[in-house]
Amino acid sequence: MPFKTLDDLPADLTGKTALVRVDLNLPMHEGRASDLTRVEAVKPTILELADKGAKVLLLAHFGRPKGRRHSTMSTSLVQGDLERALDREVMFIPEVAGPVVEQAVGILRPGDIGLLDNVRFWPGEEANDPQFASAVAARGDIYVNDAFSAAHRAHASTEGLAKLLPAFAGRAMERELQALERALGSPEQPVAAVVGGAKVSTKLAVLENLVGRVRHLIIGGGMANTFLAARGVDVGQSLCEHDLTETVIAILNRADSAGCIVHLPYDVLVAKEFAANPPSMRIVNVHEVAPDEMILDIGPQAVEALADVLKTCRTLVWNGPLGAFELPPFDQATVALARTAAALTQDGSLVSVAGGGDTVAALAHAGVADEFTYVSTAGGAFLEWMEGKRLPGVAALTQ
Ligand code: ADP
Ligand code: MG
Repeated sequence: MPFKTLDDLPADLTGKTALVRVDLNLPMHEGRASDLTRVEAVKPTILELADKGAKVLLLAHFGRPKGRRHSTMSTSLVQGDLERALDREVMFIPEVAGPVVEQAVGILRPGDIGLLDNVRFWPGEEANDPQFASAVAARGDIYVNDAFSAAHRAHASTEGLAKLLPAFAGRAMERELQALERALGSPEQPVAAVVGGAKVSTKLAVLENLVGRVRHLIIGGGMANTFLAARGVDVGQSLCEHDLTETVIAILNRADSAGCIVHLPYDVLVAKEFAANPPSMRIVNVHEVAPDEMILDIGPQAVEALADVLKTCRTLVWNGPLGAFELPPFDQATVALARTAAALTQDGSLVSVAGGGDTVAALAHAGVADEFTYVSTAGGAFLEWMEGKRLPGVAALTQ
């Protein structure tokens, strides 16, 4: 992909100010961040720019303040966590533009780091107002975007600034875009996609995009029930969107004409209650689900067949767990297939890219998050990318 990275910057950035869009939307617990994954992700970019002598101004959103100041959503709340993670001092600047920022930039020395306040305090951010973007851009010489997770939004800090200043992808953004390119942009064939999770309705666009691009489409989770029902299977009390029957049949037909093989489970784990280790749990053929039972995971025979499919593939893209993995034993299929994918990846025969909130949790639960080629924590942006959409924040970098 033709975008500039930090490699395209001069070795010495002394005298320059870098405006760096990062994701600091940290989960908070009792006034402190409960997870520093997002800070760790942007640390290399921040330190690289600082070590090259730039004054680094961090630009981020924090919560949903809807264009107004809220003391509970100030980025100053993460200043301490940021300082600890970076092991550097960070100067908090309670504005994003204007004389206060100008003054702060005057005080900062080369290599110093400043943290601007929550960019969503200003309505111009989400409106992508050119005047607001210009006011922010006025305090910087270059723009670096290291927040893939916000790239599906066309906001001033994710899109507008890239048009006003020389724009570069940060290291985390670069890694993410490279992984996504390997998975669906120009992947090694054949490609398999696993799509699971609760509902078809939230992932319709994903399915529609994938049927035209992958050889194998593996469907699990609650959404498999909708597909099974559309094929005439009685899924009992299972989570199922019966109103989507026609949509699902259209997807199956499109897959057929595109030469995409859709894999639905033929055995499943069922139970009468949505609970961990329910006494009513049975493993049955999909045609044997009783009217008072729910499908909560795909069965061991199906998993074995899917593992064989993955062995024939070179690339895997995965979104959504195969079962209600929060409740044992309905984590079994997800764990087993994830471990197969991880082993194939470690053997060098598979490029595996996964994303999605619950998917990341499920892979961590299976103990294989570090053994996939890449695991995206980007949520909405990852899904929109799987839908084949053009992400404004990425497009702005690739112009
Ligand atoms: P992601 O966050 O990775 O995109 P989703 O939010 O789409 O994934 O789906 C995850 C949820 O789907 C989990 O909470 C899981 O319990 C649920 N789920 C998976 N399979 C089933 C099933 N057969 N019945 C009910 N819920 C299911
Ligand atoms: Mg989810």
